Parts: sequence; C-alpha cells; structure tokens
Amino acid sequence: MSLRFGLAANRRHHEGHQAALFRWLRASERGIRELQLGLHAVGRTFDAIQQQGLLDGHTGLLRYPMGRDGGLMKLVSGIAGGTECGPALDGAIYLMDPVDASSIYPEALALKRQCVTHDKPFVSTVAGAIEWIEVERRLAGLAADPQAARWFDLEQQCVALIAHDARKDTMLDFAARHFDLLSRFARRIGTGTTGGRLNELAWSRGWPQDRRWVDRYLSGPLGGDAQIAELILEDRCQRVIFFEDPHVARQHEADIQLLERAVRVATDRAICVTSPAVAERWCQAV
Ligand code: PGA
Repeated sequence: MSLRFGLAANRRHHEGHQAALFRWLRASERGIRELQLGLHAVGRTFDAIQQQGLLDGHTGLLRYPMGRDGGLMKLVSGIAGGTECGPALDGAIYLMDPVDASSIYPEALALKRQCVTHDKPFVSTVAGAIEWIEVERRLAGLAADPQAARWFDLEQQCVALIAHDARKDTMLDFAARHFDLLSRFARRIGTGTTGGRLNELAWSRGWPQDRRWVDRYLSGPLGGDAQIAELILEDRCQRVIFFEDPHVARQHEADIQLLERAVRVATDRAICVTSPAVAERWCQAV
C-alpha cells in the first residue's frame, strides 16, 4: 500500500509562486507521483497547490478541513493511528514559518510530538521534504535522483548529534552501527554529555586518541541547544539528528524549541531528523 503523509504549510510558505511549498513540490513532484504518495493536505494548503496547478490529477492528494476548522488536529490523530473517521498516517510534512503564531499552536506542537512518539517522520523544512521524498524513493528501489544528490553529500556537511537522557543509549547504539557513515561528515558536533559519550565510543573503536570525533558544546540545559542553533543559522551546521524524549517534562523546553525553530529559519538548507526509526531509514537510504 502507498504511504500516506499529512501535509500543511504556514501562510508565508504557500503565498506566491516562489513560496516554500512550491519550491518543494517542483523539486519532488516526480517522486511523489512515482511513489503514488498520499498527501492529506490541510484546506488552505490543498487549495494553494491546486491554484499553482501542481500535482494536477494526482489522486493521492486529499483535502482536509482548514486549520481553523481542525484540519491540523485531524492530522495529529492520524499520526497517532487514526480512527474510523480518518486513516493512520505514515508521517507529516509541515513547512513551518517560525514567525507565524500558528506554528506554536498546540496542534502544531502535538503533530511533531506524536510523530516522535510513534517514530514517524516529521519534516518541517524544504530541504528536509526534498530529502525525505528521495529517501522513500530509494527505499522503494527506485534509481537515485541526481537532482537530490547534494543532500546526501555528507562530506560537505556538519551534523549535530543530540540525545536526551532516556535516549542516550539508543544514540550510542545508533552511532556504533553507523559509525562509518557518520564518520563521513566533514564535522560532527553535539551537546556536552551526548558528545562526551560519543567520543568515548569513537576512541574505543580506534578513532585517533588525540582527535575528538564530536566537537562538544555545552550541555543542552546549559545552552548547548542554543549554541548549535546559532551554527545552523550561520550555515555552519546543516543537519540535526535529535533523539528527544517526548515522555518527560523538559526543564529546557524553550531551548529545544529554539533549536527546532532555527532549523526552520534555514528551511532551504537545514534538516532535523527527530527519532531513531526515522534516522535508521535515512541511513538505509544513504
Ligand atoms: P546533553 O544535552 O547531551 O548535554 O545531555 C542534551 C539535552 O539534554 O538537551
């Protein structure tokens, strides 16, 4: 059965020919059709796609209610597993404009949180959406699209590796299994504790003792997330692999949100991978 993704874009991202939603669709339209990808789009986003004449005749494009009538809320339910009124969804693409107040409405936060909870992709940037369609194409056995190759050019990128306490062992296990792939990045950075543990792992695997595998910033609660956010804004970091713990109250919630919002400011060049299963699928596609 084809994949089904929820789809929404904040107002600025669907206004005008050059808006983020259309930049993504022009890059990924062919892949969406090849995958016969279901796109369950919140009302205004659906209408904007039709007005641009994109995805014309694509039967997988479905219209949900407008945001104000609960369209985004229905996507959250779909991510959690759906009901008799609406189907389960495999992930969500929500192109977020950090200065749009609706990007921090409860349903917007819940959409990401339920994606993390259910280990489904939550894609919030143009770069992430282009890459994710290519990930699904490659996993479906389709030949790699040369147009998407730059996103997989790891040697040109810096990756940030961050894990909350309950997910640190998962991060270590992930890094151990994909050590060679992660070593291809031009640079690896991390928050303090996560970075320290990853360096121990690297040294135990023969990484030169006089070199760090991960350049460490402060611990997340002490400002490490904000330091990494600044590197994203300066285009000195292009990718975040963030294993967050959605089941505890986080003392530094504001910092976590700040980091995610920085990624969305850099929508055409930054990508955030939000859970272990999603990171695994990405590694398989690479
Ligand atoms: P840490 O920070 O790697 O220093 O634990 C991560 C976090 O908790 O945000």
